[in-house]
Amino acid sequence: MYPEVKLHIAGSWRAAASGETRPIVNPATAEEIGTHPVATTADLDEALEAADRGFKAWRAVSAFERGKVMRKAAELMRQRADDIARIMTLEQGKPIAESKAEILGGADTIDWFAEEGRRAYGRVIPARADGVLQLVVREPVGPVAAFTPWNFPVNQAVRKLSAALCTGCSVILKGPEDTPASCAELVRAFLDAGVPGDVLGYVLGVPADISGYLVPHPVIRKISFTGSTPVGKQLAALAGQHMKRVTMELGGHAPAIVFGDADLDKAVKILAANKFRNAGQVCVAPTRFLVHESVLDDFTERFTAAAKAIKVGDGLDPQSRMGPLVHARRVTAMEDFVADAETSGAELRTGGKRIGNQGFFFEPTVFTNVPLSARMMNDEPFGPIAAINGFADEEEAFTEANRLAFGLAAYAYTRSTDTAEKVAARVESGMVSINHHGLALPEVPFGGMKDSGYGSEGGSEAIEGYLNAKFVSQARA
Ligand code: NAD
Repeated sequence: MYPEVKLHIAGSWRAAASGETRPIVNPATAEEIGTHPVATTADLDEALEAADRGFKAWRAVSAFERGKVMRKAAELMRQRADDIARIMTLEQGKPIAESKAEILGGADTIDWFAEEGRRAYGRVIPARADGVLQLVVREPVGPVAAFTPWNFPVNQAVRKLSAALCTGCSVILKGPEDTPASCAELVRAFLDAGVPGDVLGYVLGVPADISGYLVPHPVIRKISFTGSTPVGKQLAALAGQHMKRVTMELGGHAPAIVFGDADLDKAVKILAANKFRNAGQVCVAPTRFLVHESVLDDFTERFTAAAKAIKVGDGLDPQSRMGPLVHARRVTAMEDFVADAETSGAELRTGGKRIGNQGFFFEPTVFTNVPLSARMMNDEPFGPIAAINGFADEEEAFTEANRLAFGLAAYAYTRSTDTAEKVAARVESGMVSINHHGLALPEVPFGGMKDSGYGSEGGSEAIEGYLNAKFVSQARA
């Protein structure tokens, strides 16, 4: 039922040159369900040679034709959505409905980039001298090394692959070792749709070894990474040493500000759903709940009730609303956050413990009165833990929202247009969503500021990172 996981190098699906593999575990049972190959330097060299050849061929294909191939890949993802969703839930843990929605959303992303690639327009700049033609031409940047994580095995990869492929770049994707099979199905859909084998490579192995080899390699012209801020900083520094273009989509610690005039029913419903989606393993999940003291008790009570009502279980059970964490190491991370919060004097309202001893389940957890010194107020929780604190006036809320070096997503609930405008202007965040959860559509920018990274993974801004602007000035002979 769980497919054999292989590398895709130079047009063929195969094992690593060394034959080495590592186990893949179902997080709902902790049982081994398969293995993934560990790419060697020889494998990477072959993938690099293919990416070099693939780029030369793919950039010569018109954007119109590339778009047609991509739209076929989107159709294949839709046709295969049920099968891929099952694979994703087996290896990642999320409820099957979330897996399917991710795959269908991924298909929409491919469609959107397929169209947008046709609009990578250049410019004509009026010349000062008679008979001079000044052109700005958009060219694909070259072979891309893309690194994607396990929390959205399809969605994190599809944004990078679509932006690269629609602009004429070739790509070597290092997929997520915890969840490699559903990501491989995305690669397969592109290849089955007609993306040439040399254009799209898929590798897995030891992440630091692969990035350490690919990022500095002269064939690679662009790096795109999604993952934690510490790793992103290392890769951006390495890319900088070799003057490579970079897109970095890193960690967040999203403030959710609930003002005294908010629609509390709406705020609780939407924020709780997004806090615990994918067991909180979402870079834009709301994590620091800043609630005006006039509604603090009411909000806390209702939010805690919503957390308690979540049915946690195996993602393959259609009744489950929250699955396990991806790996045992994430359970340990949650236990550390909880122990630290309790020591620091925070008040536990619900949850706080691992569920059972089979699989990596953790209770939806709510803390209140959390001191700013507690780890969960500073490090990205990346799990089902919410911290709720009160504020007295809006200045206090904005100061806390901007206190951390993260700046990925921010949320606010208010009935006042004035307050909404202030939130949009004052909060230091790449994305701000007010009175609803309105992020991550293919056509809108997706990215952070400050330590959350730079560049965009959505909207027309996303393809800018995959294009060079070449200036051509031509006078009459
Ligand atoms: P981790 O930092 O070990 O790994 C995170 C991701 O980065 C993984 O996909 C991993 O394969 C990759 N990675 C790690 N070191 C790398 C390297 N040197 N070169 C290339 N890729 C590398 O942590 P983890 O336990 O897997 O996840 C926990 C943390 O990762 C979370 O706290 C969160 O901050 C971050 N994370 C962020 C996202 C996101 O969407 N931004 C997704 C997954 C994980």
